[in-house]
Amino acid sequence: MARAWTLAARPQGTPRPTDFALIERDLPALGEGQVRVANRWLSVDPYMRGRMNDVKSYVPPFQLGEPMDGGAIGEVVESRAPGLAPGDLVQHMRGWRDEAVLDAADAQKLPALDVPPQAFLGQLGMPGMTAWFGLLAVAEAKAGDTVFVSAAAGAVGSTVVQIAKAKGMTVIGSAGGADKAAWVRELGVDQAIDYKAGPVARALGEVAPKGIDVYFDNVGGDHLDAALAHARPRARFAICGMIDVYNDARPTELRYLARLIGNRVRMQGFIVSDYLSRASEFYTGMGDLLATGRLQRQETVHDGLEATPDAFLGLFTGGNTGKMLVRL
Ligand code: NDP
Repeated sequence: MARAWTLAARPQGTPRPTDFALIERDLPALGEGQVRVANRWLSVDPYMRGRMNDVKSYVPPFQLGEPMDGGAIGEVVESRAPGLAPGDLVQHMRGWRDEAVLDAADAQKLPALDVPPQAFLGQLGMPGMTAWFGLLAVAEAKAGDTVFVSAAAGAVGSTVVQIAKAKGMTVIGSAGGADKAAWVRELGVDQAIDYKAGPVARALGEVAPKGIDVYFDNVGGDHLDAALAHARPRARFAICGMIDVYNDARPTELRYLARLIGNRVRMQGFIVSDYLSRASEFYTGMGDLLATGRLQRQETVHDGLEATPDAFLGLFTGGNTGKMLVRL
């Protein structure tokens, strides 16, 4: 009997444990071209909060009572598909559960890079790709730029910081709390801001008196406003996420929005899947950083399928440093 987390109710505001339910059900027998995988690692990601709302978006909402999806690394335990054999590790989207039957076409063997498998859910997976293309393609950041990154101790943010440093940029990272700010400094930022210690706009002005060329937004709200307040002429903003509002639909007050005009700021949202066709660029680039020892990887690990909702909820209270993961 396989077990899976379902959405029991659509959350109002911050999700509560009772919005989730763990169910058991039999998996179907394997069809031709299918594999059965036992999940070893599950990813929890902020975008999943959006899928809990019954609204039209770039990914369909989770259905009440049905297993939720998400990134996962699984081990093939049974195969009727050529090219996949028991023992192979694959990446796929049937997360939030312990076992799954899926078409082999929906399971990718892990790329041949010398890292532990769970790295393909973080720095060398979707969050890493988001960091790479958001910084280099969307914001067109280049050597010499001053880059401001919010949620800099998280999966995406900590990767942005390290790519930007490796490519010769000046980097300012913001994170919640003194310990996280200290870790962001260890990653090599030029300046770290603990946004819980005071207004972020004031802190950014102090550490970047000449302003910023690039803002990589993971947070929205006061961080976005601070970046607008200190944007240099022709600054580029990659709008990756706005976790500050995911649980709370209140309007964001942007006092400095009009600075877009005079400073000719370009602000662009993006979704990582826009860049899937360029994945090989990402693996080559990150492979180089890995090989030359310029990537640090940090994970916050919860153990056991039962812990998955807690791990997910921890993303909204800063419970993670680096990538938030569940180990099965
Ligand atoms: P993280 O690992 O960064 O985890 C979330 C972090 O956000 C927390 O650890 C916390 O860090 C911070 N945070 C939570 N609430 C707030 C708040 N109210 N104000 C400020 N900081 C807050 O998650 P990811 O790296 O997976 O994702 C980062 C962002 O990137 C998210 O907004 C996500 O939606 C977005 N994203 C977008 C993608 C795209 O394709 N556009 C793809 C992947 C991610 P702290 O303790 O520092 O507050």
